Order: sequence, then structure tokens, then C-alpha cells
Amino acid sequence: MPWDRQITIKSPQELEIMREAGRINAEALSAARAMIQPGVTTAEIDAAAEEVLRKYGCFSPFKGYPGPYPYPASTNVSVNHELVHGIPGKRKIKEGDIVSVDCGTVYEGFVGDAAFTVCVGKVSPVALHLVETVEQALYAGIEKMVAGNHVSDVSSAIQNCAESRGFHVTREYTGHGVGRAMHEGPQVPNYGVPGRGLVLRVGMTIALEPMLLVGTPATRVLPDQWTVSSADGSLTAHYEHTVAVTENGPLILTTLGDGSDPRRNTEVRV
Ligand code: MG
Ligand code: MG
Repeated sequence: MPWDRQITIKSPQELEIMREAGRINAEALSAARAMIQPGVTTAEIDAAAEEVLRKYGCFSPFKGYPGPYPYPASTNVSVNHELVHGIPGKRKIKEGDIVSVDCGTVYEGFVGDAAFTVCVGKVSPVALHLVETVEQALYAGIEKMVAGNHVSDVSSAIQNCAESRGFHVTREYTGHGVGRAMHEGPQVPNYGVPGRGLVLRVGMTIALEPMLLVGTPATRVLPDQWTVSSADGSLTAHYEHTVAVTENGPLILTTLGDGSDPRRNTEVRV
């Protein structure tokens, strides 16, 4: 698919606004994460995130996002083999599931975009390894978000981290620039050869989002026309932050007010 969306450079003032969008988004994701336990529906998880956005007078750019039909919720809640874009609904979470929640926030015209995957109670060893690895892959990519590096340095770091631990990265879905629009340039694949393509510059803001699969890299779209699943039904995981390239190195914008990532380190609920 061609990717001709514009790359925008943000001023320090615009970065401050995006930092606040990211902070509110982190709070919404924390609320969603706190809801996740056996017996809770994916719609209830979505509602917890949406309530936080409403509290701040914000909304999610996911709702109404154009596709086969307008996306109907504020978050994606994707369980087990569902990689991304799971539609919240009546499905109940069970012990042993791995659950990914992706949320966006529009604040004063700018977007924050982030996601996490968490284990519910006791999960299989491969599920735990997968969830730990997707988070490590994200942070491996973030380390490369330095002015002068190439976009493919970020892609390559994510791919190497995932594949060296025995997992696959998706080819069909990518990270992306983010700003006034949820999807701007550049496109940031989860695979690549280092030292190629666009050079990162101070003021670029990119949503990095490794998407990992256990079986093969192949995906398929489920009959609801939104949910993306592994083609073979194997487990998948997704983790995402919006990150700015600054003069002082990478700055994660989608953290809580104290700069912490409350979802860092895989939490296994019992
Ligand atoms: Mg996202
Ligand atoms: Mg994204």
C-alpha cells in the first residue's frame, strides 16, 4: 500500500500539547488495565478508558475512524490470536488470556497513541515470553529514536529483538508518524535493514508499535471486518508508545505525569 502521508515537525510548544495528550492517554490505558480480570467483558474495559477521556473533555480518534464501516469504539481490545483492531464487545476475559488494549486521545488538536499487552493470571510459558518480548522490542526501537538515525534503524532494532527470541513481526501493519492526524508520515515498519531511508530529525513524533506473532508473520481480517488475527490462530501481542525525537534523545510522550510507564514490566495477575 502506498504511504504518502505528510511528515510534520513539531515545535517545543506543540510537543508540550502532545505530552498532555499522551499523559491523558496513559491514564485511560491505566484505567483499562485496572479493569482487566476474569469475567470482565472487553466492552467494560473500553468503557473504563473512555470514561477517563470524557473526564478531560477529550475523545478517541479511533471512534468513527473510516474503514469497512466507521470504527465503533474508543479502544481496540484484542485477545490472544487477535493482533490489533479488536472491537470491544460482550466477550468475557478468562484466566490465561493475553489482552492487548490500544487507545488514542485527541487533546487540543493533537493525538496521543499507545497500547499494551498484559497477561491474565497464569498464562503459558510461550505467552509470557511473547508479552515480555513485545515490550522489550518496543524499548529497543525507542532507543534508536535519535536525530541522525534512519527510520530503518528503529525498524531493524524491533525486528532483531523479536526474531532473536523466536517470534515473528507483522509485515502488513506498521508504526507511523502522529501529530494533528493519528496517522502521518513516516511509516515505520517492524522490520528492515539498518541505515536506509528517511533520517530522523528533532521534532518528529512517531508511534512505534511492534506487533509480534508466535506462528508465522501472516495475518487475516476476521468477519467483523476490523479485527486482525494471526492467520494460523497462534498467539500475538502488541505494545506501543508515541515517541518524540528531541535534542536530548528519545522522549516518550505517552507516559503518566511523573514520566513513568505504569505498564512497564509484564504484570501477571493471579
Ligand atoms: Mg495505537
Ligand atoms: Mg498507532
